[in-house]
Amino acid sequence: MNKYWNKKINQATPYVAGEQPRPGQKVIKLNTNENPYPPSPKVAEALRSFDTADLRLYPNTNSDIVRDAVAAVYGIERKNVFVGNGSDEVLALCWQTFFEKEYNTGKSVLTPEVSYSFYPVYSSFYDVRCEQVPLREEWRIEPGDYCGKDCCGIAIANPNAPTGRLLSIDEIRMILDANPDVPVLIDEAYADFAEGYKTAASLISEYKNLIVVMTLSKSYSLAGIRMGFAMGDEELITGLTMARDSFNSYPGDRVAQKVAETALLDRDYWEKTRQAIIATRRWVTDELRGLGFTLTDSHANFVWAKPPKKIDAQTLYNCLKAKGILIRYFSNPKISDHLRITIGTDEEMKALIDAIREEI
Ligand code: PMP
Repeated sequence: MNKYWNKKINQATPYVAGEQPRPGQKVIKLNTNENPYPPSPKVAEALRSFDTADLRLYPNTNSDIVRDAVAAVYGIERKNVFVGNGSDEVLALCWQTFFEKEYNTGKSVLTPEVSYSFYPVYSSFYDVRCEQVPLREEWRIEPGDYCGKDCCGIAIANPNAPTGRLLSIDEIRMILDANPDVPVLIDEAYADFAEGYKTAASLISEYKNLIVVMTLSKSYSLAGIRMGFAMGDEELITGLTMARDSFNSYPGDRVAQKVAETALLDRDYWEKTRQAIIATRRWVTDELRGLGFTLTDSHANFVWAKPPKKIDAQTLYNCLKAKGILIRYFSNPKISDHLRITIGTDEEMKALIDAIREEI
């Protein structure tokens, strides 16, 4: 509390990011779903040939080189792409552009009860009422729970975080068909790690109310440059641009735009690293199940694991931390019996499994 803060800041409950190691501290970092592999080697080349003289000039406001790369990758057009400073910023702008204020309608945006914990934070910060829809058995999202409700919008992470479970394109269609009058946001931060998944971006020409949000932080190993994007009908993109230009006209700097463009266009490297993570996820899942953990079949670059009876999640989290392995524990009682573990390199995951074996 501070008397110089306005009421909103005095009442805010901000998002808490996973802990960052101190500079120089050696840890195995499996707590914020970063990619263990470096970005495409072409990124290093692009940085080496970057003309620093250009840094005196403002960047292109719309990050058009990134929009064109996204359009080429997804088979859509530049006008269907919006670029922001990480998908967190894109999501925040979506909340401000698409979901109505509670004092205007009294209606809620629907989100899964267990999902990305930024959604309720945006909702309260931007005065949007949020209805958290309970999950079904084994963390399943039931599409029918998002149909036939008088809401002001829907936001779902697919695959969901931190559960790793995936909705099919047909299930997303069902939600879209039932909600033609409100915006439906699908957050695909982890979709590139899903097996047999076709992105919902394939539906944007069919559904004028669909906005798909994506990041370069995960499958492109670029959490450090802050680049994310949204894909949707041209009118939705125009709305996002209006919100952005009421806040910060230059969210993507020149270096980040060049790096993002380069990484997006190196399809071979993207495919190779994402397949490596999928393969590691498979054996980590099997190993942990073998040790008595209960896991969902994760489609993301993390697993969602409940330790065996012998040890509770918080104790195991603390034991691993003492050994220099950071994973994610959530104190929210609905999920405090589980741990979210990012998929690292094979070597890191072997160290994790060995450390767990010593504790249970
Ligand atoms: N969506 C989900 C579901 C996430 O877990 C994250 C990462 N914390 C983000 C979006 C944001 O990613 P970024 O801002 O790095 O693009």
